[in-house]
Amino acid sequence: MSSYLLKNCDIANFDTLGVSRKDLLITGERIALIRDRILPAEHPDAEVIDVNGKLVMPSFADMHTHMMQTFLKGPMDDYPITDWLVRLFSIGDLFDEETAYYSALLGCLSSLRFGTTTINEMADWIHFAPILKAFEDSGIRAVIGISTTDIAENDKTPLISVEEALYRSEYVYDHAHGKNNGLIEASCAPAGLPACSKKLVQALKQFADHRGIIFHTHLAEGRKETEDVRRMYNLSGEGEALYQFGILGPKTVLAHNIWLSDAELDRIKETGANPVHCPNTNLKISDGIAPFAAMQKKGINVCFGCDGEASSSTRDMIREGRMGAYLQKGVTLDPTVFDAGYVFKAMTKNGPKALGYTDLGEIKEGNLADLIIVDMTDDLSLVNRDYRIGNLLYAGDGHAVDTVFTAGKIMVRGKHLTMFDEGKIIETSERLLRKLNDKIRKAGL
Ligand SMILES: [Zn+2]
Repeated sequence: MSSYLLKNCDIANFDTLGVSRKDLLITGERIALIRDRILPAEHPDAEVIDVNGKLVMPSFADMHTHMMQTFLKGPMDDYPITDWLVRLFSIGDLFDEETAYYSALLGCLSSLRFGTTTINEMADWIHFAPILKAFEDSGIRAVIGISTTDIAENDKTPLISVEEALYRSEYVYDHAHGKNNGLIEASCAPAGLPACSKKLVQALKQFADHRGIIFHTHLAEGRKETEDVRRMYNLSGEGEALYQFGILGPKTVLAHNIWLSDAELDRIKETGANPVHCPNTNLKISDGIAPFAAMQKKGINVCFGCDGEASSSTRDMIREGRMGAYLQKGVTLDPTVFDAGYVFKAMTKNGPKALGYTDLGEIKEGNLADLIIVDMTDDLSLVNRDYRIGNLLYAGDGHAVDTVFTAGKIMVRGKHLTMFDEGKIIETSERLLRKLNDKIRKAGL
């Protein structure tokens, strides 16, 4: 069992935006001790790391992702949403196993590099095996479900029966749940209304409840789709439909949440469901602006997600958090909403809570040792130690993350991955991308 003694940590307090200088002992996968002073002689097996007054905080939970899209950063830029969706499926058809594996692996490794250690993934069935392998190989903590649809939104939408969806959920549960010593869990992840029937979402919710796993879906991302749901069910909106169908609850994770009424936000609050803000995607592909400041006021468990890179072009949660903060301040004309402390809590503590963890997302004795050390001492643009936490959100980005622990294991050290040769990952990715880009051009896409 590995053990690390982190000396002189400035542990972030998101309530005060201040820090406390402490020593921190990691034993196995957990934070064993936090004290003013821990003597190395008392823990001779522990490797001593002098953090030297750098900022220590919980790592990030990226609560809505499609990691196979990592290779699609670029070829999906600046398309209208209807074309974007068709293009996404058409280009997805050109992926082979190796491409899917490296695309997902690159996404997981970029996430780790930027201090994200928990991922809530909605994956494609057709390449499930290489995607799962990429998650396993990366060593990241993840909840993985399969994107499922049974109503055509366009002629490329893959349609399956409810029975097939249940079979796939069972398959994912059997093959993913508990993998990597419990770092990987399964979920049910239907794509969302109106591409899923009431029967499908209810069957998958029942399956998820029976297994005690997460139900993860998109909610009210597109204005047109939300209108379609209103017409289809004669209900006030997509959120109301999920409420009426019995889908909302504390184990339900909802991505986007744009076209919702105040009454629907109350449904989310009442049921304890967990909305995920994906502002980079929502702005880049012109989905709209989600009412997250109102959710903050209602005390809803707000999370953040970078979504797939086909739409967001980033795996950096700090960029995501900053975009969300600026957006909510801008549309409400209220600079006090989405303050730095609130945003960091939404990015660290709220995600694990939504996924059912009670021992993850905060720097506390006994909690899982998923944490980051942030080095802002080598960046001319990040000076002023007294305001480090706010400056990290508003002036920094994921490149400031120096060291990353997942379950007590060092994944990033000195701003580089410890388990992978970054140069080789980039070289292999560029080789596969040249092939993929050629295929895209040849297919006339
Ligand atoms: Zn999505």
